[in-house]
Amino acid sequence: MTLTNWAGNVVFTPERYVRADRVEQVQELVAGAPRVRVLGSGHSFSEVAATDGLLLSLEDLPLSVDVDTATSSARVTASARFAHVMPALHAAGLALHNTGSLPHISVAGAAATGTHGSGTGNPCLAAGVIGIELIGPDGELRTLDTGDQDFHGSVIAMGLAGVVTALTLKAQPTFDVRQYVYDDLPLDALIADFDEIMGSAYSVSAFTHWRRPVIDMLWRKQLASAPEPPAGYFGAALADSPRHPIVGMPTQNATQQLGVPGPWHERLPHFRFEFTPSRGDEVQSEYLLPVEQAGAALAAVHAVSAQFADALQVAEIRTIAGDDLWLSPCYGRTTVALHFTWVDDMSKVTPALAALEGALSNFDARPHWGKVFGLGRDRIRALYPRLADFEELVHRTDPAGKFTNEFTARYLDLRN
Ligand SMILES: Cc1cc2nc3c(=O)[nH]c(=O)nc-3n(C[C@H](O)[C@H](O)[C@H](O)COP(=O)(O)OP(=O)(O)OC[C@H]3O[C@@H](n4cnc5c(N)ncnc54)[C@H](O)[C@@H]3O)c2cc1C
Repeated sequence: MTLTNWAGNVVFTPERYVRADRVEQVQELVAGAPRVRVLGSGHSFSEVAATDGLLLSLEDLPLSVDVDTATSSARVTASARFAHVMPALHAAGLALHNTGSLPHISVAGAAATGTHGSGTGNPCLAAGVIGIELIGPDGELRTLDTGDQDFHGSVIAMGLAGVVTALTLKAQPTFDVRQYVYDDLPLDALIADFDEIMGSAYSVSAFTHWRRPVIDMLWRKQLASAPEPPAGYFGAALADSPRHPIVGMPTQNATQQLGVPGPWHERLPHFRFEFTPSRGDEVQSEYLLPVEQAGAALAAVHAVSAQFADALQVAEIRTIAGDDLWLSPCYGRTTVALHFTWVDDMSKVTPALAALEGALSNFDARPHWGKVFGLGRDRIRALYPRLADFEELVHRTDPAGKFTNEFTARYLDLRN
């Protein structure tokens, strides 16, 4: 059987693939193998999870989501996906600060790549991690919390800090959200009033096809207690029926809109767990820039849009609060994220990426580790101020380079 990622654009060819079902088994396997990577739920589009050594799946580890209302936190095993964690937290009166666009992804994999949702006040999902249990190259299990010197390099680590067996997530009181969609926001308005528009609700996403100077849809996920939104907003009009981010896809796959209040975990993702998220037949890219560069970057992307629009299914613009995790694409800065869902055809995507990355070359655009990009080693290295600290951590904790792979060695100085 061929082992691929969710999108099918990465084929894994490890020497050995094992679905482990006990932590002790994982410890033995890690200790005995010269080269190890973990595959989460396989939702990355880049080769970040690939290896020519041992590829481990932890999906069969006994699933546990231990919610602790006294400390407002939950310890979740590496087998957990957000779809397992979110309802358990909500049932206990708690919530995560945010979600990604879909609940299908594993918590450990999302943390490892800096996966994020939207909302100027909401940092990436890894910023909600307060404890991490991981197996080192010798097979020993250790626990790190926010007070440990290695913590801020170990949460978003693309698997280089060790095999994560469990994470502890901080929680907050549960809350209700109402989701509204606006049609046809002029691009000029978004450029001119970016902070106000993207900060107008708890989580805001702007979808465009970059075929006209218009944001096709502005999705606003507001706290249920916030006032009713106006019928018109910066020239955009409130939609009177449900929308899907990709025009033509069934709207029933998308989460409830039209202002119907519902719990955070049923409104903040764009896609419902029961249905295929997004389109499935696709490749994704995303670039994360300081929010101060948003207007100029949007104008620069618009200027070259004719060179990439044919390869595009849909694009999304989001904002994210900064954090202090060393390999985070949002490290140290409030961020605007420019996302692109491409057609599943690299002969079209590769030139599209070249045009886009050319347009973004004057900006500090960090690519999403889990999505495809063409930027080279020198460019990537210049974008991460704590890279040397991260490399020191990896050299010290994994001196033989057991957890490295071709993808990570392409950008980082690692022993392999
Ligand atoms: C339809 C779709 C929608 C998406 N939406 C968003 C979005 O809204 N926001 C966003 O930021 N991203 C989004 N992504 C990207 C996705 O969130 C990331 O690629 C994420 O890393 C996927 O998690 P995963 O479990 O599938 O990880 P994988 O792709 O399986 O692995 C990613 C990395 O995590 C490591 N890893 C996984 N588990 C462990 C573990 N237990 N121990 C150590 N290392 C581990 C792997 O080795 C690898 O390096 C989307 C992807 C898809 C397919």
